[in-house]
Amino acid sequence: MKFQCSSCALRMDSFHFKQEGLINPKLTSICDICLQRGLNAEDYANNVVEVFAKTLLYTFVGKTDVEGEECNFIVNNQKLRKRYESFLQDYDGNELATAQIPRHDFNQAIIRSEDGEIDFVPDQSREFKYNLEQMGMQVNFDLNEVDYIDRERIRAKYHYRCQYCGRRGTSVDHKDPVSISHNNDLDNLILSCAECNRIKSNMPFDLFEKLNNQISAINKKLVKYENSLGTLREEFEKRRREIAAKMHLKGVVNDPELNTLRSQNKKLQDGIDSLQSDYDALRKMRETHFSNGWKIACENRKTDIV
Ligand SMILES: [Zn+2]
Ligand SMILES: [Zn+2]
Repeated sequence: MKFQCSSCALRMDSFHFKQEGLINPKLTSICDICLQRGLNAEDYANNVVEVFAKTLLYTFVGKTDVEGEECNFIVNNQKLRKRYESFLQDYDGNELATAQIPRHDFNQAIIRSEDGEIDFVPDQSREFKYNLEQMGMQVNFDLNEVDYIDRERIRAKYHYRCQYCGRRGTSVDHKDPVSISHNNDLDNLILSCAECNRIKSNMPFDLFEKLNNQISAINKKLVKYENSLGTLREEFEKRRREIAAKMHLKGVVNDPELNTLRSQNKKLQDGIDSLQSDYDALRKMRETHFSNGWKIACENRKTDIV
């Protein structure tokens, strides 16, 4: 759920407008960034927020008289607004960033950029990390610094197999996300493949494990795909080398035998490509299973709709 701020005109997630009140939550006519500027929500009208507040039995903080509603926004240019909006969304959705940069500091950087004190406006086409740096902020996105010896020990302990899906894995991964626990103890470390590591990301270990257990048959299939593709690729390479050796022996580039071998190998390559695309489709499906499970778990935790 998004609201538009009556002062800066940015559209952002409703929690930027919500304050817990003594009896009821309050919804403000302007966003938390504009409040941090020292602006007063009571000076601004915001009809949409007002209607929502009424419907949800929240207190509305703002002007209830819409006459003479302000249309001189802090960020008047719509293109610039889009850039701030997507930067805000990146921050709101990133646990590592929100854990390391206090919201107050983040808001202050936005204010300084809006006011031209920082000569930079976040760029949607650049990485989040780059935008943060240009805005004078830094996040360590790789907190899981485990030393080399430990990594090797973990890899050997699990025989280079991902403990989630069973495919080959070398990523030493935290059961509990580092952003939450900062726990580098050996029993919080597990071996995973790059794919599971990426999918798990900041998801709590228990949830990831539960979702993973629901699809053990699919995981077994993925292992089969990986093994078959590996064997088939080796066979393809072996045949390619044989053709090269024969060519060298015969001293010719083309003859019926060589052409037959080449065409066989071409067919093998097509078969491998087709198996690879089945494998990719299954991987994609598995990833959707996790991302939906994660979304549902987050939604279940929230009791309010704004
Ligand atoms: Zn605002
Ligand atoms: Zn895996």
